[in-house]
Amino acid sequence: MNYVKKSVADAPLRGKKVLLRCDFNVPLKNGVIGDDTRIRAALETIRFILREGGSVIACSHLGRPKGQVVPEMSLKPVAERLGELLGLPVQMAPDCVGAGTEAMAKALQPGQVLLLENLRFHKEEEKNDPDFAKALASLADLYVSDAFGTVHRAHASTAGVADYLPAYCGFLIAAELKALGGAVEDPVRPLVAVLGGAKVADKLAVIDHLLDKADTLLIGGGMSYTFTKALGGQIGSSLLDEEKLDYVRKMMDKAKAKGVKLLLPVDSLISTAISGGEEPRVVPDGQIPDGWMGLDIGPETRKLFASEIEKAGTVIWNGPMGVFEEPAFAGGTMAVAAAMAACKGTTVIGGGDSVSAVQKAGLADKISHISTGGGASLEFLEGKELPGIACLPDA
Ligand code: AMP
Repeated sequence: MNYVKKSVADAPLRGKKVLLRCDFNVPLKNGVIGDDTRIRAALETIRFILREGGSVIACSHLGRPKGQVVPEMSLKPVAERLGELLGLPVQMAPDCVGAGTEAMAKALQPGQVLLLENLRFHKEEEKNDPDFAKALASLADLYVSDAFGTVHRAHASTAGVADYLPAYCGFLIAAELKALGGAVEDPVRPLVAVLGGAKVADKLAVIDHLLDKADTLLIGGGMSYTFTKALGGQIGSSLLDEEKLDYVRKMMDKAKAKGVKLLLPVDSLISTAISGGEEPRVVPDGQIPDGWMGLDIGPETRKLFASEIEKAGTVIWNGPMGVFEEPAFAGGTMAVAAAMAACKGTTVIGGGDSVSAVQKAGLADKISHISTGGGASLEFLEGKELPGIACLPDA
């Protein structure tokens, strides 16, 4: 997949109306926005378009209204907040298609911003209905995609509209593609991938793909016990995906054949329950007694993983090393976060729980790139073609 796309920076914007797909899927309660990070993240592209003499028709989904008009999922509070942040009024459309919206889009002048109502109030959005995509496209002259969190979805506003308008990526997507694409396709070596989390099934395709790309693969978290079991170890009542035992054996064989260093935990912090169990203790990997479960990587594993991370040219991390929500089992994940922060190479975090871990540790500003899209970045790391990226012309 080519990850250098035609950018909004090179688009002819003067006097043009730009349909801008944003990710304004903010936490909302009783009309109050709990966190405006995603709105702030859109400002750079919006300001650029306005400065270059264009006007912005912003659109987004919010929540899961499933094709119904759900007033609590209206984007009106976002229009207000966006206006405050931009320092200019943001007009709110009555819908995202239809006569009223068309009239507002038509009247829009350079330098002005219009926000369309929640795209998912129409079931045609998630179905990528061509007529709906055409109706969205008819509002504008150009399409700019800047919602990385939804590029793994083939929806009308994330993929379909690109069939009907000249398409470009915004600054957010460009940065994501540069960081993730660079780390996987053109990394400074050694490339170390750190994978964790609960479910091995969710990460199989990532492991498979990264074995083609990485020099070293570090596997921790609940998913590591399926590997330990496959090697004949005792894992007590730790997480196990019995059906995937053969697959993980295949992955270990693949690592050997490719000369990839695949490291599993050498020790585990165990207890009898996630909370309120026996006093946690450390055991060597593969020696977890019945009734006990591995809930974090142990101290030797933390040292081992940290030494691999610290000497990496590039590190990609996805998934916690243990049940990090419980302070007793957060140490391994925090050790990886600290090692990432100390690494002099390029460090990339692929969304989700690992992001909250580095934020909790106060280390977010020491990471080269933190992805804004959990699901999207995971599919990127699987080497999958993402519909919202594939639809954009290459630079
Ligand atoms: P995932 O969504 O697959 O990335 O998994 C994230 C979840 O994995 C977090 O909620 C962690 O608490 C959980 N997790 C990580 N390690 C373990 C473990 N050893 N046992 C049980 N759950 C774990």
